[in-house]
Amino acid sequence: MTNRIPFDLPEGYVEFYKAIESWQNELFFKLKRAAGIGDFDADSIPQSIERPVLETHGIDIDPVHYREAFLELTQLVMKEREGIKDSLQEIVKVFSEMDFTEIAFRVINNDCQHFEKLAAEKGLAGELAYFLLDHALRPFLRCFALPYQGVVVGEDFHWEMAVCPVCGSQVNFSRVRAEDGQRLLFCEHCFTEWPSRYLGCIYCGNTEPLTIKYLVVEGDDAHQLFVCEKCKGYLKTFDERKGDTKRDLFIAGIETVYLDLIAEENGYTNNRIEDERNLN
Ligand SMILES: [Zn+2]
Ligand SMILES: [Zn+2]
Repeated sequence: MTNRIPFDLPEGYVEFYKAIESWQNELFFKLKRAAGIGDFDADSIPQSIERPVLETHGIDIDPVHYREAFLELTQLVMKEREGIKDSLQEIVKVFSEMDFTEIAFRVINNDCQHFEKLAAEKGLAGELAYFLLDHALRPFLRCFALPYQGVVVGEDFHWEMAVCPVCGSQVNFSRVRAEDGQRLLFCEHCFTEWPSRYLGCIYCGNTEPLTIKYLVVEGDDAHQLFVCEKCKGYLKTFDERKGDTKRDLFIAGIETVYLDLIAEENGYTNNRIEDERNLN
């Protein structure tokens, strides 16, 4: 099936995310250096992972560092988006007084309801607040994930859930590796990749070829939308064999928002597992 791109991304949209990602990269490298990651004890890494590691092992996030990261990211967004300065200042006023250990716990558990309620009570822009808290936390998750990434990317690693095996976040992007056509799912929260069947729905496990289709937009075969007729789930994919370069998968996810729109317009969703997350 071929579609047309239904809209142009607003000007500066991708650049905005690129600025956030470079800030996240910097913080990630800083955290990595501070944690001395790279010298982790290989014996302490589980060889079999059956539930997301974060759920079974927990994560220690320094609330002081997380709060600092949140404030820094807010400053960056303020620079990029002058028009929402007042909303950002209100968010900072309310959140900077809060307990960032609890905030980290709630963000990791994807407890949007808590933040929506809080935002309504305080008259804040709830989605914006959650966006900042979520994106400020991601470098910490990337650091946490490092020791496990070698385990989950191996060919013999089998994982049937549609969430990241390390941090438990929902997944909505994958790439098909140029060298061997292997599909790797990608977590945009902790940047972990792990193998998955090329043809198979990550939500319901369906592998019947006729009920799994893929859609592309005209003139671009590399960015694909895999949809499952059984459960109406969808997954975006970058096929390296058809694209001319390796992609930054986080940015590829942002640049292909039109695929989400096409999917949703056709009745597919990638929100199938919101309620299944159970990291409490
Ligand atoms: Zn993850
Ligand atoms: Zn399915």
